[in-house]
Amino acid sequence: MIFSVSVDLDGLGCYAAIHGLDAGALSERELQAVPVAAVSRLSELFSALRLRATFFAIGGEMGIPGSGRALRAAADAGHEVGSHSHAHDYALSRRPAAEIDADLERAEGAILEAVGKAPRGFRAPGYTLSRALLEAVRARGYLYDSSLLRRPTTRRRRRPSRCTRFEAGGAAASWAAPDSSSRAAARTGASECASCPSPRFRSCERR
Ligand SMILES: [Zn+2]
Repeated sequence: MIFSVSVDLDGLGCYAAIHGLDAGALSERELQAVPVAAVSRLSELFSALRLRATFFAIGGEMGIPGSGRALRAAADAGHEVGSHSHAHDYALSRRPAAEIDADLERAEGAILEAVGKAPRGFRAPGYTLSRALLEAVRARGYLYDSSLLRRPTTRRRRRPSRCTRFEAGGAAASWAAPDSSSRAAARTGASECASCPSPRFRSCERR
């Protein structure tokens, strides 16, 4: 069997930003959860399994105390360190070419400083690609891009709205399918789904 293991080192600050929360309210310990604690634990786990993985690191997170040391230790243990951009900006693929280039360059510099080696692989924030981003990656000499993932096969095709309601504590089956109000919104062509909890997800996408 051939398989590969990779980990995107999105820190809690990235998740706060996704949900419109204030990343500045996170403590240093919380900021270290991924680039320090998770890197060290996963590196130890992978070594125990005799498995070499790829960590896609965010350049901007290298400023978090202890993150450079943890990543260097992972690299010294034989794991690859790729770039997951500098700012983890989901709109990176839509930025002008000069801004894309500047972000990639900053990430490379931060990773090089941390582990002593420039990254040779790239994974886009949010797996969002564009021709401009791919061309920038190629032009900067990366060996590969790893931003496309196969979609797991599903047995049942679900109806098209991607608008779902998440209920804390509920079974996965209770939120894995579009709820009735998003299906109704899709049927009637309404632009908003009443059940979406965040203004960032107010619009129901339809295929
Ligand atoms: Zn990410």
